[in-house]
Amino acid sequence: MAKMIINGVPTDAANGAVMDIYNPATGEVIDQVPDATKEDVERAIAIANAAQVEWAALPGWKRAELLTKVVEIARGRIDEIGTLLCKETGKVIAEAIGEAAEFCDLLQEYIEAYKHLKGTLFENGIEKGMDGNLIMTVHMPVGVSACIVPFNYPILLYCHKISSTLLVGNTAIVKPSEYNPLALIKLTEIFKEAGVPDGVLQLVTGKGAPIGEWLTQSEGIKMINFTGSTATGTKVYNSGSKHLAHVSLEMGGNDAFIVFEDADIDQAVEEVVLGRITTSGQICIGSKRILVQNSIREEFAKKLTDRFSRVKQGDPIDPSSEIGCLITEEAAKKVQKQIDETVAQGAKIAIGGTHKGAFYAPTVLVDVTKDMDIAKDMEVFGPVAPIIGFEDEKEAVEIANQTNYGLGGAVFSKDYKRAIRVANRMITGSVNINASTLCRSHEMPFGGCKNSGIGREGISSSFEEVTQKKVILLRNILA
Ligand code: NAD
Repeated sequence: MAKMIINGVPTDAANGAVMDIYNPATGEVIDQVPDATKEDVERAIAIANAAQVEWAALPGWKRAELLTKVVEIARGRIDEIGTLLCKETGKVIAEAIGEAAEFCDLLQEYIEAYKHLKGTLFENGIEKGMDGNLIMTVHMPVGVSACIVPFNYPILLYCHKISSTLLVGNTAIVKPSEYNPLALIKLTEIFKEAGVPDGVLQLVTGKGAPIGEWLTQSEGIKMINFTGSTATGTKVYNSGSKHLAHVSLEMGGNDAFIVFEDADIDQAVEEVVLGRITTSGQICIGSKRILVQNSIREEFAKKLTDRFSRVKQGDPIDPSSEIGCLITEEAAKKVQKQIDETVAQGAKIAIGGTHKGAFYAPTVLVDVTKDMDIAKDMEVFGPVAPIIGFEDEKEAVEIANQTNYGLGGAVFSKDYKRAIRVANRMITGSVNINASTLCRSHEMPFGGCKNSGIGREGISSSFEEVTQKKVILLRNILA
């Protein structure tokens, strides 16, 4: 049985409670994990606080050296960890192994970037009365961080969170999704093997509520680094506000993918396919509303439907499968309910629209109008492409912005002036031009506006999120 990692030790729940972990493709129980108690969570928080003092006191190069050792060990375990991720998540094997490999590259990149982190030194003599004083800023760790990870990209998001968090001298307690904690347990074990001191990185398993609540409500948690749904993120924000915890919230999205009549239609179709079948469309930044100019809407819908009909769906462990299944059968039923509601509002199913267990068929919806829920705030976490027509640039921007979400967006057009004009008007954290919203670099400050989040995650921004600026002033040192 897999165990939590508390104080460097594989640990059972204090009361011995366990939860089953399933392979969503087969329904088999593949392992069990502890269902943590409040006592377990409180113990982890106390240990993380004690460990943080010593970890922050280590020179930065030493922390970087220890994490470099983590990368070296992890490189030898990519297939093992990727296969585990495939089984517990239902994402196809090539993607799962790719995500495990990405852990190594991304952690390495964070380590390199950390070595170039700079404080500031203010020019002397600019302000009257300050002559002779030397003023500088340094990055100070925030303390213990609760890193709460969703099910869809657990390894990638775990890596973004803990890399920046640990390098600057914070300690972390990871709360993986209750559905797929196994790959993260394996990765967390590597930190011990690499010599990272006990208590620096811990992991508690069990249900989001109450375990996530015990974590986020605790005064011992100084930062909540959350990725997940807007509903949960809002709860977490409220909990953290009671003790003024720092927060970074990466939440849901309903991204618009706008295709103008002068776009390369075949390329745009391929980008929709990629964005909707990867991880079975369970992607925060997936292009979830396909806005197509009316003059090319029919042609686009035909091409997309034809392309979806050729996507091979099957057992995620089979290398020939292009799309696997959703995280649970319940998730597939939720998508089904959303499709049924959209059809009841007048949409038509061009292909798909059904599920078998956790496998949701790639689906194209046509005759979707801008007043339907799916064109506004209904986030569909599955391989579904609703095609919504628009007449002109103004209407495209209106539909794109008529949602409470504001994560990403995409614009397809050969007219770059228009594409940039539209991108500037979209109220989102990012807009990709002639690329699906899926196209994300490790460097970029990733995050959302409105109900999609607070803060930016990525190598260029995360160090600022997980630290606080401290000013050091030396009086009359230059006098
Ligand atoms: P979720 O909100 O159900 O769960 C996310 C995490 O929060 C899990 O670890 C869960 O156990 C934990 N949790 C649940 N209830 C909690 C509580 N009351 N207090 C504290 N923690 C709690 O989300 P999910 O279903 O795992 O992931 C899908 C959602 O995540 C989608 O809405 C998607 O758009 C979003 N997402 C956003 C990003 C982004 O970067 N913006 C990335 C990936 C996923």
